[in-house]
Amino acid sequence: MDLVVAGGGVTGAAVALDAASRGFAVALLEAADWASGASGRPVALVPAGAAGPLRAVAPHLARPVPVLRPSGRAALGAAAGALAGLLGVGGGAAAPRWLPPRAAAAALPGLRPEVLAAGAVRTRDARVDEARLALALVRTAAGYGARVLTRARVTGLLGPGGPVLGVGATDRTDGSAFRVRARAVVLALGAADLPGLPGPGARTTGAASLALLPGGAVPGRSAAVVGTPGGELSLVPADGRWALATTGAGTGLAGLLDLAALVLRRPPAEEEVLGVHASTVAARERGTPAPGLVLLRGIPLAEVRGAAAEAVDDATAGLPGVPPSRTAHLPLVGARGVDAVHPLPPGLPAGTSERLRARHGDGAVEVLDLVRDDPTLGRPLPGAPGVLAAEVVHAVTAEGALDLRDVLLRRARMPRPTAAAARAAAALAAGPLGWDDGRVAREVAATLPASR
Ligand SMILES: Cc1cc2nc3c(=O)[nH]c(=O)nc-3n(C[C@H](O)[C@H](O)[C@H](O)COP(=O)(O)OP(=O)(O)OC[C@H]3O[C@@H](n4cnc5c(N)ncnc54)[C@H](O)[C@@H]3O)c2cc1C
Repeated sequence: MDLVVAGGGVTGAAVALDAASRGFAVALLEAADWASGASGRPVALVPAGAAGPLRAVAPHLARPVPVLRPSGRAALGAAAGALAGLLGVGGGAAAPRWLPPRAAAAALPGLRPEVLAAGAVRTRDARVDEARLALALVRTAAGYGARVLTRARVTGLLGPGGPVLGVGATDRTDGSAFRVRARAVVLALGAADLPGLPGPGARTTGAASLALLPGGAVPGRSAAVVGTPGGELSLVPADGRWALATTGAGTGLAGLLDLAALVLRRPPAEEEVLGVHASTVAARERGTPAPGLVLLRGIPLAEVRGAAAEAVDDATAGLPGVPPSRTAHLPLVGARGVDAVHPLPPGLPAGTSERLRARHGDGAVEVLDLVRDDPTLGRPLPGAPGVLAAEVVHAVTAEGALDLRDVLLRRARMPRPTAAAARAAAALAAGPLGWDDGRVAREVAATLPASR
């Protein structure tokens, strides 16, 4: 191997794609499932300046959303200048706009009037399903020949004390140990550490929490990012729900709802919360702590592509004829021909085309092929009108899901599957994954309590 990448969050996946698409032989090892760390966010905002480049390579995953940032008109100049600097242009359609208080309130009536008392600057950001972005990066990297493996925990570096020669790892499906020799190793472990790693270890910026609420919880269609004395709160509408998120010390669901009470006219109650995503976020770090070893963590989503390209440059420094990064213009899996899902097989629930395209892009065609082969797969899971049975089969046959939580939480995005949905999904996954009745029962039991 030229390169081993440890950690299959959005950062490690981006590094693997960058290296594989330059023609390097790459292995990507993930201890659990793709995006099972901080990258598992169902909804993340990418600021306007970086939204365009992301939309160019993954239009189905980076959806435009207007975002209000409460502030007076004077802030407009700074926002426009920052955006123009990032885009290298004067602004155009993406240019920030200042909305006076009344217009801002009309865009997001759910906010308390005092929050918008000075008006708001409106930008056009992108909202991203970060876990599905990581998955698309992995699948695209695999398409360029990367060897990608989940349930593979990196346990140490080969060549201690000298140049790094690869990694030792454990296959968590059977406990066996294996080694991957490589010219260089990139560690993209998020907030996790590796024993014996040179340096002080991971620093964190504290917890990050995200709660999903029903679509009616916040009247309005614009997203908002609001500073409060307790921290910054983002509110983003996505797929008929709202995502409320904050980062910083001492948050968690209770802290998040306290922040929401400061900015929303009708504070959400805990019982309304459909699902929670919480994670420790690593502080930013990028370096080469030993020859042949590159460390990368805490990179904001908007900067991941560029940081991944630099990490590959660092890891391959000294090799002759290293080609430049190609990822700025490389379409990800699903990015081509998002209109290609028509005509739909008959009898599918309303809105299926739009939902499938948002989740899979042109990969929706693969899902619908499953329905054509077996029309019963065109039914939604019980109690989950937004998820077709075919998507469960697709998750385990095309998207690398190995257990029921991989399928329901990170692929189908069901934060709280009902028992009926979990049982139906387990029955669908059982064939392709070779589960017997005992394993099906264990998967259902393991999925339900943990998701509540
Ligand atoms: C609710 C929430 C809000 C956030 N808000 C923001 C924000 O506003 N702005 C921002 O920039 N960022 C934010 N983040 C963080 C952002 O999502 C992360 O910084 C980014 O996704 C990190 O991705 P990563 O790949 O570096 O790390 P991770 O996604 O944590 O990936 C690390 C991966 O490494 C794997 N791993 C660990 N140890 C090993 C090992 N020994 N062997 C193999 N694999 C291993 C883990 O299983 C994990 O999948 C937020 C995160 C959350 C959860």
